Amino acid sequence: MDACKRCGRPLKDEKSIALGFGRTCMKKFEAEEAEFKHIQITIDDALRVHNLKIMPEYFKAVASKAKRFEIRKNDRDYKIGDGLLLREYKDDEYTGNEISAVITYMTDYAQKKGYVVMGIEVAA
Ligand SMILES: [Zn+2]
Repeated sequence: MDACKRCGRPLKDEKSIALGFGRTCMKKFEAEEAEFKHIQITIDDALRVHNLKIMPEYFKAVASKAKRFEIRKNDRDYKIGDGLLLREYKDDEYTGNEISAVITYMTDYAQKKGYVVMGIEVAA
């Protein structure tokens, strides 16, 4: 006998058998799926990380925590809370040195059009 995939009770009508769920469970299943997708989107959004090239002199300054800001063209829709993966770039290639940071503040005050200043905190 066909059983509901959610609660395991036997399924009686053809429509339920075709769906694999009883009527009530189908509704609950759909709601759970929607909630799951919503959570996924929230997580993906929360874990947004921007990969950025950074020149050695600035890499060092960020690594030593002397430089706690980045000025960038805002072509990536940066948001407070987004992660930055700063990848040291020298002579047209990545050196392999990287720093993870989080955007803590943003302003475009007195910046060239389209540019933004971001306060950053280097991840421990
Ligand atoms: Zn069920």
